[in-house]
Amino acid sequence: MKKELVERLLPGLTHDREYYEKLYPERNLPEGAIVTRYAPSPTGFVHIGNIFQLYISCKMARQTGGIVFLRIEDTDQERLVENGISKIIQDVASFGISFDEGAMSETEEKGSYGPYIQSQRKEIYQTYAKDLLLNGLAYPDFTTKEELEQLRKEQESSKRRIGYYGKWARSRFLTEEEIEKKLDQGLPYIIRLKNTGDFNRRIVVYDAIRGKLEFPEDDIDQVLIKNDGLPTYHFAHVIDDHLMHTTHVIRGDEWVSSLPVHIGLHQVLGFKPPVYCHIPPLTKKEGNTIRKLSKRKDSEAAVSYYHAMGIPVEAVMLYLATVSNSNFEEWYLEHENASLDDFSMSFDKIGTSGALFDMEKLLNLSRNFLSKLSAQEMYERTLAWAKMYDDAFAQLLIENRDIAISFLNIERNQEKPRKDYAMFEEVKSGIWYMFSSEFSPESYEWQKITDLDEIHLVLNTYFESYYNENDTEEEWFSKMKDCCDALGYASNMKEYKQNPEAFKGNVADVSTIIRVALTSKSRTPNLYDIMKILGLEEMKKRIHYFQNRS
Ligand code: GLU
Repeated sequence: MKKELVERLLPGLTHDREYYEKLYPERNLPEGAIVTRYAPSPTGFVHIGNIFQLYISCKMARQTGGIVFLRIEDTDQERLVENGISKIIQDVASFGISFDEGAMSETEEKGSYGPYIQSQRKEIYQTYAKDLLLNGLAYPDFTTKEELEQLRKEQESSKRRIGYYGKWARSRFLTEEEIEKKLDQGLPYIIRLKNTGDFNRRIVVYDAIRGKLEFPEDDIDQVLIKNDGLPTYHFAHVIDDHLMHTTHVIRGDEWVSSLPVHIGLHQVLGFKPPVYCHIPPLTKKEGNTIRKLSKRKDSEAAVSYYHAMGIPVEAVMLYLATVSNSNFEEWYLEHENASLDDFSMSFDKIGTSGALFDMEKLLNLSRNFLSKLSAQEMYERTLAWAKMYDDAFAQLLIENRDIAISFLNIERNQEKPRKDYAMFEEVKSGIWYMFSSEFSPESYEWQKITDLDEIHLVLNTYFESYYNENDTEEEWFSKMKDCCDALGYASNMKEYKQNPEAFKGNVADVSTIIRVALTSKSRTPNLYDIMKILGLEEMKKRIHYFQNRS
C-alpha cells in the first residue's frame, strides 16, 4: 500500500520500527535467565489463580537470575476500574510478591522497557501495524457489525468455517481508490492482518508445561488495531513481549487455543516467539463435575477472602507451592523448616490437568503454620487482623493483652503443639471466655446443664478444700484426684472401667464440671493453665454465677 494512504490510515507516527528495536536492546542478564511478566487487565480483581501463576513466574525468574515485570493490559477500555492498577499491586504485595520492573502505581513505573501500560504504547503498536500495511501484510476493514453478522449467516448456511479469512475476508480486495473513498466519507475502520496462513497446514508448538502441541495454522485476518486506535490483545502482547525481551510467557491455559494466532503474528512480524508456558487453572469439585475456581461462584477465588478470614499468607503460599510442582511435598517433608526459596522449581513438574483446590488441605497447612508461631507472634498477628476486620475484638485483645498471650501460649511450645486455629477469624471463638468483660451468666448453655446440686457439691468441695493457686501442675492434678476420691468419683480410670457402677463418675467428669463452670466450654486447652491465668478472684466470680442460678 502506498505510503500516503498508510499515513492517512495511521496518522501522526514519528518513528519507524527500527527506532523501537534499538530503543529496547537485549537485556543484560545471565545465560538462561527467565524474563517473564504478569499482564493483567486493570479490573482491580486478583484471582487466587493469578497468585498461583505469579508464584510460579517469580520462582522461575528468580531462580534463574531473571526478572518478572508488571505490564498493564488496558486496551479494552471498557473494563477499566478506578485505581485498578494500585489495587492489583496491593493485592499481589499482600502475598509477598513484588515486581522487578514495570508499572508501580497508576502513575509511576520502573525499568527501561516502558511504558508498561499498553494504552500508553499506542504509537508503538501503530508503528508495527504501519509497517505491515506498507508491506501489504495488513489492510483497513470498514465492514460494519451488520455486514459481519450477514457474513456469519452465509458461512453457517453454506456449512463453512466461521470467520474472516480467505475469500470471505472481503475487505482484503478493496483497491486503494476504494479505501480512499471510504476514508473521504469518514467511515470507521479497523486494521486487519492479511493472513497468509493455511488452515490445512499444521503447526507444532512446544509448551514448557504441556509439551508438544499441534494446531492447524491460523488463517483468520486477525484484528490488529481497533477502531479506537488501540491494538487487540493478540497484537499488543506479541509486540510487547518482543520489545520487552520476555523469554517465557507464563499465563493461564485459556490462551492455549490462541497459540496459532500468536505464533502466526510473531512470524509475520519477524520476531522469535518466546517460550509459552500455559498454567492450568485451579479447579473445584461440584457434585460429580470438576470446574474452574470461579470468580463469580466461589468466595475463595478472590484474594481478599484469605485476608478477611485471616488465613496467613505463608500458609496460602505453601499450599500453592504444594500444588505447583509434583515433587514439592516430598521435598517439603525433608526440609520442613526451609524457605520456599530453597525449593528448585521446574516447568515439567507442573501438572497439566489443573490442581483441585483443596481448602481443607490449605487450612491444615495453616493450622500447622499458626501452631508454630510464638504466642507473642500469634497475638500480634491476630491483633493486626482484628484491627482490619473486627474492631471490637481488637479492643478486647488490647485490653487483655497479657491474658491473651498467656492463653495462646498454652500447649504451644512443645513438640506437638495444639492446632486450634486455621485462621485468625477463629481466635475470637476460642479465646473470648478468658476475658472477664465477656463472661456472664448468659455465657452458659444452661439448658444443657443438669444436676445442679451435684455440680455445686463438686465445685464447693473442690474450691474449698483442694484448690491452691500456688500448686504445681502435678500437685494440682493429684489434689483433683483426691477430691474425686472424697466425692465418690473414680480417680483411677482403670478401676472405673472395671466397675463403673461403684462410682458417681470419674476424674474426667469432675474436671469437666470445673471446666464448664469456669469457661462454659466442655473442651478447652489445659485446664491447669486456664485456672492460673484466670486467677482466684475471676474464678470465684464465675462459680458465683453458678451458685446464684438455682
Ligand atoms: N491480559 C491477559 C489476561 O488478562 C494476559 C494474558 C497474558 O499473560 O498474556 O489474561
